[in-house]
Amino acid sequence: MDLKPNHISPVITEPIPVKSRLGLPSNLMSYPPGIELNSTTSMLFNNIQRRKNVPSKLDELRAGGWLEAMIACSPPRKKQTKDSDDSYEQYLTWMMKYPSALTSFEQITAHAKGKRIALFLDYDGTLSPIVDNPENAIMTDEMRTSVKNVARYFPTAIISGRSRDKVFEFVKLTELYYAGSHGMDIMGPVRNNDSHGSHPNSIRTTDSQGKEVNLFQPASEFLPMIDEVFRTLIEKTKDIKGSSVENNKFCVSVHYRNVAVEDYGLVDQCVKEVLKNYPRLRLTSGRKVFEVRPTIDWNKGKAVEFLLESLDLSDCNDVLPIYVGDDRTDEDAFKVLRERKCGYGILVSSVRKDTDAFYSLRDPSEVMEFLKSLVKWV
Ligand SMILES: [Mg+2]
Repeated sequence: MDLKPNHISPVITEPIPVKSRLGLPSNLMSYPPGIELNSTTSMLFNNIQRRKNVPSKLDELRAGGWLEAMIACSPPRKKQTKDSDDSYEQYLTWMMKYPSALTSFEQITAHAKGKRIALFLDYDGTLSPIVDNPENAIMTDEMRTSVKNVARYFPTAIISGRSRDKVFEFVKLTELYYAGSHGMDIMGPVRNNDSHGSHPNSIRTTDSQGKEVNLFQPASEFLPMIDEVFRTLIEKTKDIKGSSVENNKFCVSVHYRNVAVEDYGLVDQCVKEVLKNYPRLRLTSGRKVFEVRPTIDWNKGKAVEFLLESLDLSDCNDVLPIYVGDDRTDEDAFKVLRERKCGYGILVSSVRKDTDAFYSLRDPSEVMEFLKSLVKWV
């Protein structure tokens, strides 16, 4: 695995998920492999074609600075379903490019015939709802049972931005593999002749069940720095009402979901000010959260590749990886699957977003339905 330091920008800028052109996309008719225009989508397409393009609210969002992006990055959840005819129509148009993994289930499973499915699941916003307090992002028992059932048939891993311990506390299933801190903390199986087993950042240890496992932590040298930044950010943001700082072991999250919009600038300013002193750390953005991470070339996409290799599942002829996630950071994994032409990314979103996924699901309840469908299909 390539672990080159990635000294791009010390204080960052990942683009925020705002689609810049939201009329009918010119590549509307380009579908993922195996997707055909069925009668429902045809009807939908014809309906949309009949109407004139109307500029959306997002069209008016200019490519401004961080602050504008902070406001725009996560539309209010209560207004997502049918804010207006226009946005709903544009969402449906988007859905034609990224069809529901439920209505496309047969196409997906047709590609899985004779192959082993490997399942990768994000946690927040995918298995649990996005909630005001990140500590309360609890998955339902029904979801837990669905994940447990699906893991009986397919190797299943959780890949989260949270610390590995924290996400395990939420999921509580020992039969899964876990990658925390955006893949920078992976507990996977031990293999004979494991090329990763001899990696300097990889150690053999035992899990909570006493089973021998391989622990891969490519950013271990950053631990003291991350801890220092965590404490500094707590101190600096203590007067910003509604902000919270979370230590995810190899990254620090600054949540501003509960901060008043007029104070977003303070959060932005504060985080950037602290980061100025840490050129080896970078800042990325998620759903109402800033994330401070080491500048190493490692992300959820690399974690997927690592796990596929660790699990002996990297042969595309025999394996169909499926990655389900809702966040900007999941795009790295979608991109890996798209570039390998192997497997499918499924974006969980009830609003249109730029994505490298092939399919979509609206929310965690549809994710659960998809997992149940996979179990029935086996
Ligand atoms: Mg998520």
